[in-house]
Amino acid sequence: MRIILLGPPGAGKGTQAKTLAQEIKLPHISTGDLLRKNVSQGTSLGKQAQDFMNKGALVPDELVNQMLTERISLPDAQEGFILDGYPRNLAQAGILDEALKKLGKQVDLVVYLDTSEAVVIQRLSGRLVCKNCGANFHATNMPPKKAMTCDNCGGALYQRSDDKEETIRKRLEVYRDECAPVIKYYQAKGTLQRLVADGEANKVLVDIVKLVRKHHDSLKV
Ligand code: ADP
Ligand code: ZN
Repeated sequence: MRIILLGPPGAGKGTQAKTLAQEIKLPHISTGDLLRKNVSQGTSLGKQAQDFMNKGALVPDELVNQMLTERISLPDAQEGFILDGYPRNLAQAGILDEALKKLGKQVDLVVYLDTSEAVVIQRLSGRLVCKNCGANFHATNMPPKKAMTCDNCGGALYQRSDDKEETIRKRLEVYRDECAPVIKYYQAKGTLQRLVADGEANKVLVDIVKLVRKHHDSLKV
């Protein structure tokens, strides 16, 4: 089953996708995580992507598309995946459709995590990420047991360089201009399901899992 999580930065796509991945045993594919890994490893892709990411802009399609199509072609993604951070504009949605078509597959379910702007800004400005395993925490909403230390692996937590107020505003602007049309695209195809995602993370997860199970059952009949 191929699932996409859509929604503004701070909607909780990463947090939800990571837990959902364990729950339904499909790989979590995050273009943001893949890009940050390239940046920290100093690859040529990372070097080209870095400035765009720090500004809160989208990384050019030709860099992201190849990274994504390679990732979904790997063996662990053949039974399905949970995609987070892609597609982010209409051109990317078209690329994904084409790439899946070549593999004889399609997007099965798109979950739109509808989140208000006030919630998004509060979540992003307090977000803490584990350097080692990528787990997300929040200074007040989801504090780690020990200050600046990951509950899962003991790694050091840090604030992402694009989680500064000015960059957050830019990312929200980009989201409104580029990503909102993607929602309409999947709505028109009939694959989009909307969930209000302002609430607590574990409550939102319950709703997502319900949607996924319902959809999975209807795929079988
Ligand atoms: P968020 O959704 O919270 O903004 P991500 O981790 O998904 O965070 O993305 C961080 C940054 O990585 C984006 O601001 C953008 O620069 C880049 N990025 C991630 N995915 C894409 C994509 N599909 N296309 C272009 N740029 C991307
Ligand atoms: Zn960790």
